[in-house]
Amino acid sequence: MNDSEASQLRLKASRLISERQRMEKGLMEHQRFLRGSLLERPKFCGKPGCKCTKGQPHPPGLCLSRLVNGTVRQIFIRTADHERVVSQVVNALKASLILLVYV
Ligand SMILES: [Zn+2]
Repeated sequence: MNDSEASQLRLKASRLISERQRMEKGLMEHQRFLRGSLLERPKFCGKPGCKCTKGQPHPPGLCLSRLVNGTVRQIFIRTADHERVVSQVVNALKASLILLVYV
């Protein structure tokens, strides 16, 4: 590789880094993110005498699964928060995809 080619590559890398930083800034300023996977799981309230303690779970609920300090944690999401949580998880996925383009 000659000096001119190396210079062109440095210029291109500099432009890509600037573009990535601009996109990251735009994403972080206007979006909320929530990392994790969404899944539906049957619920077990565990109240004494409830049908779920006898193997009949409550209807499935939306659950956020994510890795926290190397351990998978699952959190049930209240119905009132479904729309917000789904939107934030989708935002995180979109951000990941956008950033992959610049890796
Ligand atoms: Zn129950």
